[in-house]
Amino acid sequence: MEIQFPGLDQLSEVYADLDRQVSGFKRRAGIECLRRCTYCCATAKFVEASIFEMLPLSLHLWQEGRAEALWKNLEGIHPEEPCVLLQANPPEGLSGGCSYYRFRPLVCRLFGFAATLDKHGNPRVGICRPLKEMDKHMSDRIDERVRGGLPVPLMPDFSRRVAFLHPHFGQEKYPINLALREALEIVGRRIHFLNSKRRDR
Ligand code: SF4
Repeated sequence: MEIQFPGLDQLSEVYADLDRQVSGFKRRAGIECLRRCTYCCATAKFVEASIFEMLPLSLHLWQEGRAEALWKNLEGIHPEEPCVLLQANPPEGLSGGCSYYRFRPLVCRLFGFAATLDKHGNPRVGICRPLKEMDKHMSDRIDERVRGGLPVPLMPDFSRRVAFLHPHFGQEKYPINLALREALEIVGRRIHFLNSKRRDR
């Protein structure tokens, strides 16, 4: 059954553009996530997504037959619980711990390798704590290179581009587990509706 939500094709295009920019930035800046690090995923109270961003994964989970069980697991979950998609002990060979990396939302693609703008409009790259602890001058060095012209993806630009793809489900951000639960429910209701329409024919 083909379920459509407006904006999802464009969302893939925005993600492809962002992933290209992030790869270019990482290569030129010479930075990379630490091997098997899960720090940014484990600090879930800072991981927020819109319902719209969680729709691609929700559609996939319903197709896989795993949505209902996950939806029940998410019932009553505290907003600050770590993301349910995080594998605490990622297998060898994975660079992080995301069990659905291909479907991760915007913030998970931006974190650590994108810039916000300070009050003077200058880009400041949000280097993660584990990298900063490894090299305390890294942030200043990279910000200086960005001021000197090193291209970096800008968080506000990508946030705006994604939010406007779906004015209803794309504007509000929620803790990631809540956004996922809502998205699973919305897709589930849509499937139920289409199935009952088909039965009535
Ligand atoms: S969706 Fe994946 S990358 Fe994002 S917080 Fe959850 S586990 Fe981490």
